[in-house]
Amino acid sequence: MLIVYNPATGEEIGRVAKYTSAEVRAAVDRTCAAFPEWSSKLAQERSKILRRWHDAVKADKEAFAELLCRENGKCLTEARGEIDYGLGFIEWYAEEAKRVYGDTIPTHDRNANVLVTKEAIGPVAAITPWNFPFMMITRKVATALAAGCTMIIKPAEDTPLTAFKLLEYARMAGIEPGVLEVVVGDPKEIGLIFTGDPRIRKITFTGSTGVGKLLAAQCAATLKKMTLELGGNAPFIVFQDANLDEAVKGLVSAKLRNCGQVCISPNRIFVQHSILEDFIKRVKAAVAKIGVDQGLCEDFVVGPLVNQLGFDKVVRLVEDAKAAGAKVLMGGKPHAKGGLFYEPTVLTGLQDDSPLATEEIFGPVFAIYSFKDEEEVITRANQTEFGLVAYAFTSALGRSLRLSRQLEAGMVILNSGSVGTASIPFGGIKQSGYGREGSYYGIEEYVQVKYVLMAGAQF
Ligand code: NAP
Repeated sequence: MLIVYNPATGEEIGRVAKYTSAEVRAAVDRTCAAFPEWSSKLAQERSKILRRWHDAVKADKEAFAELLCRENGKCLTEARGEIDYGLGFIEWYAEEAKRVYGDTIPTHDRNANVLVTKEAIGPVAAITPWNFPFMMITRKVATALAAGCTMIIKPAEDTPLTAFKLLEYARMAGIEPGVLEVVVGDPKEIGLIFTGDPRIRKITFTGSTGVGKLLAAQCAATLKKMTLELGGNAPFIVFQDANLDEAVKGLVSAKLRNCGQVCISPNRIFVQHSILEDFIKRVKAAVAKIGVDQGLCEDFVVGPLVNQLGFDKVVRLVEDAKAAGAKVLMGGKPHAKGGLFYEPTVLTGLQDDSPLATEEIFGPVFAIYSFKDEEEVITRANQTEFGLVAYAFTSALGRSLRLSRQLEAGMVILNSGSVGTASIPFGGIKQSGYGREGSYYGIEEYVQVKYVLMAGAQF
């Protein structure tokens, strides 16, 4: 039995029976058996069903938000934001289902037509993390189902309740068994069942780079297509010509969202040395205004870390940095509330090769570094195996252009701390993975291209 706890209080909030391997295999069988019928439905029919799912969930948004808050620890304001974000994917792909266009190509044979069609790739298996228990699922499921794929999904064991609630509403909307399945149990065993089954044609995974690499190796035997949304180590660069009010606002909201447990959270904050002191003063003032609490309240508050492992990691990274000479300008220790709460923390005097700079912090820690000039900061920002997102604030147009070209990331965000919505291609390069989710590009991940030569015009 999987017992689910509220990370803010430690109280049990629900139980889910773990699937045995035979039950997981049976769910995979259903996913594969449902594919021929689902993929042959008209795009308009799939679109209508997705729209019904969207509307049913939206009508119960508050119930989802409260569950999300209890299960994950994020505050209600954020939970509602995640639900809007996640519903945006269902809405977007309900529309995009109708626009999976092919091509015609000028023929090389006067008696033939050359067509390119796009077909659903097949049954897909998904594995998702706990940091966005709602949006991670709608983003994958809506895209797959819109393209005509069926999907089996394994949510994170810290947050399975939101996944099963989404499944319940999917059934109410007419998404039948097999078209969408949710299983929980031993992650390694489920991963091996998914990757080892030749009928599963694609794996989409969001989580750590380590598990992503393991799954990629497992997929090699059957050459499955993959989408991998993995870890990040986002640089957040502030130049002296930036609008500092906007830079601080962007940084604080990006950093404290979900208590810093976000793959696109600013991990290394580079501030030009001439404005360092002023910038730090402003960041501290902005952070001091934000409370730390359990999230069932109307204010934006910083919640707990999701589990003991995550909490211990933040403690280790900060203690290591302190021992190596870092200056603690704010916080720097577990919060007086106890449990999994950690104080929002501001640190400087850090080395580029310290674990705080090379690992994903996944906690409410502002790690601030200073730099002299553009060339230096671009080199330092790129000194990581990750390449998910890079942020920069500057008012110089030429510099913005150079940053957009030279920063090694799948997403470059200039003069904003917000990455976007369903309409943008989300994803990374380097060891942050490959493939994109969201936008027109997202649905391309679930289709395969077929070239058709139609000869015979002379007969
Ligand atoms: P994780 O340990 O990789 O877990 C992610 C998922 O993989 C969970 O469902 C987990 O199951 C499952 N899993 C663990 N071991 C597995 C195995 N051997 N085979 C198959 N599945 C396995 O990651 P996490 O620590 O929960 O999540 C945080 C990571 O996700 C961070 O690195 C973060 O950057 C990344 N992330 C990336 C994005 C993006 O879009 N790029 C978005 C969000 C998060 P259990 O929960 O049951 O262990």
